[in-house]
Formats: sequence, C-alpha cells, structure tokens
Amino acid sequence: MATLLPGGQATVRGSREPYGPRVVSGELQCEASMTCQRCLQPVTVALQGSIHWGLVFSEREMQSLDQDLDPILIEEGQLFLRQAIEDEMVLLLPIMPMHESCDNGWIPDPEPGDVSEKESPFAVLAALKNEQGS
Ligand SMILES: [Zn+2]
Repeated sequence: MATLLPGGQATVRGSREPYGPRVVSGELQCEASMTCQRCLQPVTVALQGSIHWGLVFSEREMQSLDQDLDPILIEEGQLFLRQAIEDEMVLLLPIMPMHESCDNGWIPDPEPGDVSEKESPFAVLAALKNEQGS
C-alpha cells in the first residue's frame, strides 16, 4: 500500500481548441510512502508526471477523443479535480519500490566502528564469501 504524503504539488491549466475537446494539462509532483520490496522498511518515493486530460461528457465522446489525451469523464457537470489528480498520482507509483540502497541497519554490522562506512558493505560481503568457501 502507498500513502500519498502531504505537500504534493499539481499545476494544471485548461485550454480549448476551437471545435476541439477541452484540454487540461499540467505537472504533478508529490511524494508517497511505500514499503521497500527489498528490506520491507518504509521508503519515500518521489513521483513526477504530467497531465494530458481531455474532458469528455459521455462514453461516446470518450471513444472519439484524441489518443494522446487521457479521457476524464465529467459527471454531473463536475470535474472532481482532487480525485482525478490522486488517481493520476496512483498511476505513477512504482510497482517495486525500493531504497537506492537499503542501509537502514537491517544488515547487522559485525564490528561497528572498525571499518569506515564506505567499506563496510564490501567487508560484509567478503565475510560471507569466506564462510561459504570453508
Ligand atoms: Zn530497502
């Protein structure tokens, strides 16, 4: 599961071509809290995407909409902007969220303070390799 964190930003602007569909375009930026698929600790992922909506008022209009636009169905004359933006953000969520490196201390450090932080992951790997070899 993912939780959208507060502080997300969305910039949208509407336009309309003569005889064309109403178009809403914009940019989305937000962060979501998800579970890292490698270490199962919470991870914050940055989401960024753009909006290219075509507003439609019926299923039929949806069919004839330009392929480049994502159809947004206007129900009862209203655009549920917040809902539509949240839906868009959910689509941006990664399927396999992961930390760039899972250094949350879940790998026990055998000798804290003995090696520099940069070298420690390799030292752990080398130790594991030696154990397997013997
Ligand atoms: Zn992780």
